[in-house]
Amino acid sequence: MLRLGLVFAGLLTAQPADTIYHNGKIITVSQAQPIAEAVAIRGNRFLAVGSNADAMKTRGPSTTVIDLQGRTVVPGLIESHGHPIGAALAEQDGPIPTIHSIGEIQAYIRAQAKTVPADRIIFVPKVYASRLKERRYPTRYELDEAAPGRAAMCDNGYASVLNSVLLKQASIDASTPQPPNGKIIKDEKGEPTGLILGAPNLLGKFRQSRARTHKDMLWAIREMQKAYNRVGITSVFDRLQGPDGFRAYQEVHRNGEMTVRTNLTYYITANGSPADVEAAVRRIPVVTGWGDDWLRVGPLKTTVDGGILIGTAFLREPYGSNTRIYGYSDPDYRGVLALPKENLFAMARTANELGWQMTAHVTGGGALDLLLEAYENADRIKPIRERRFNVMHANFPNAQAVERAKRLGVIFDSQIAWLHADGDALKDVFGPERMSHFLPFRTLIDNGLKVVGGSDHMIRFDPREAINPYHPFYGMWMAITRKTVSGAEINPELRITREEALRMWTINGAYNGFEETIKGSIEPDKLADMVVISQDYLKCSVDEIRNIEALRTVVDGKTVYERKTR
Ligand SMILES: [Zn+2]
Repeated sequence: MLRLGLVFAGLLTAQPADTIYHNGKIITVSQAQPIAEAVAIRGNRFLAVGSNADAMKTRGPSTTVIDLQGRTVVPGLIESHGHPIGAALAEQDGPIPTIHSIGEIQAYIRAQAKTVPADRIIFVPKVYASRLKERRYPTRYELDEAAPGRAAMCDNGYASVLNSVLLKQASIDASTPQPPNGKIIKDEKGEPTGLILGAPNLLGKFRQSRARTHKDMLWAIREMQKAYNRVGITSVFDRLQGPDGFRAYQEVHRNGEMTVRTNLTYYITANGSPADVEAAVRRIPVVTGWGDDWLRVGPLKTTVDGGILIGTAFLREPYGSNTRIYGYSDPDYRGVLALPKENLFAMARTANELGWQMTAHVTGGGALDLLLEAYENADRIKPIRERRFNVMHANFPNAQAVERAKRLGVIFDSQIAWLHADGDALKDVFGPERMSHFLPFRTLIDNGLKVVGGSDHMIRFDPREAINPYHPFYGMWMAITRKTVSGAEINPELRITREEALRMWTINGAYNGFEETIKGSIEPDKLADMVVISQDYLKCSVDEIRNIEALRTVVDGKTVYERKTR
């Protein structure tokens, strides 16, 4: 039902609006008034939200009036899982191609060999077997073929393929013992195939092609904020930063250059003994919430396991026999745990005691269960519900995990992009039982759990070609349809509605940042963040949702992006 009525900010005031947007369809994401025709903005806040006539009552002699001509408006969109600095730096030297096959990897290496200096490694970033036509990693020999005599590798941060020159440089051969935190894959003759899983100590120096300077990071933040504004994003959760990243954001903020409100996740590795972990948490001089409406300290994070695309996610049971895509076969293998569970318990206890919100990277079901156990331990000492702890990725919440999550009030920071991009490959690896609770947003929402909308944006500026695609409407479309890149639907009974998807990218994100009273919906007194979009989100055909564009993005009452029309 359409309910129109004027709602004023606070007491009626004689102060007129700076800007009025009228003749629109405003999807407010507010229960009191779901749809409005017009909004009035004064300063950085919404002054009135209601009918055209009512909004016009706030008009003064210098009010700017903008006719929306029937366009739809939604609240400023919140990307709840991004890595904006790394994503921008990945393309600092120019665009990197989207890779779909081993042939394309070889073509990229051939082209790079002409421009990359001979003493530098030819590096192909973010190569996942699940996203290659062949559904396997290339071999060292396939890389050798593309650029004989040159050092080359492809990599996704967790799994790498080194060519023969680089294996030699790294002194990895048939006699190399297995590293403690990874796996050198060898062929039947015992020779390395080039594929190496994990092993950060062995490969770290190759993965970082150059050091990132403070200046690089400032550039990255500014450029990615512009890119985010172009798709209607007005807030982001940067999901992994340390002191360097915090300082870079502070400088951009100090210069008054922020156009995307940013919530910063502080990362620790939680290594050493439980006492070391506790001490590490106590050493950090801030806790969640410190900052302002532009830049705020978010949760404390660590990593519990690997990834579902690499075969290092820590599962509840062995992977099984369909692991060719990962480059190995080991029927008893369950994945990798990055830390002892006592460390995770110590971290959760200390974070909760000090007033942190906590989150952790958990991709497999076993890792999720362990994190929930850590949260339960902390909860026994002091309830965690009001700290709004997160589970990050959390791809496989089975019925028991959902029950536990419900009791603790944890928030799911899960990315449907993994279903869209990788579902076709993953369903063969994991099989129907496990896939029945893969990213089950329907189940989570029906159980009263909050799911936030985000992508895990790691590289590239292009919003739909990025890994992962961060275009919010593309993401909403994925959650609404559960379609994969091949067009298949994965467990369609777990689809959610358009309204639910929009809440993921708006009010739920605000809630996750403890900011639901100041943003996430279009209501009087809230921060004036909103987006004018190209289609009626509620009425257009389902498949049109993925192509919706932002026409105008307003942050803090100001237009930060306007689409050029001819
Ligand atoms: Zn991430």
